[in-house]
Amino acid sequence: MAEETIFSKIIRREIPSDIVWQDELVTAFRDISPQAPTHILIVPNLLIPTLNDVSEAHEQALGRMLTVAAKLAAQEGIAEDGYRVIMNCNRHGGQEVYHIHLHLLGGRALGPMLTHKG
Ligand code: 5GP
Repeated sequence: MAEETIFSKIIRREIPSDIVWQDELVTAFRDISPQAPTHILIVPNLLIPTLNDVSEAHEQALGRMLTVAAKLAAQEGIAEDGYRVIMNCNRHGGQEVYHIHLHLLGGRALGPMLTHKG
């Protein structure tokens, strides 16, 4: 059994956060340290530590994460100009919280996808 992170407490509303969407499969809330004018995290309610841990049983929640990303982009008014969704995995991906999440980033031109080459 994977160890819970702070995101499980946010999903259960045990600690405060700015939740912008919640349904039976996913929860979305504003990142505590935003990297762009819109920076929302979209997480499955079920704890899945990394993208390496997903299975077919998770496909409904994984699909919902993307449809919610599109809905929230429209709600935030960034859909037309565009935005970026990112999921980091493990050390090389820069993952800090081991409960998978999509970063929804927008509200300004985001620049190149990677800052460091090589
Ligand atoms: P990762 O590096 O794992 O892809 O991203 C983790 C994200 O979670 C970071 O952008 C970080 O700012 C955000 N984060 C970490 N702890 C909290 C928290 O307690 N509340 C919120 N809203 N965001 C958090």
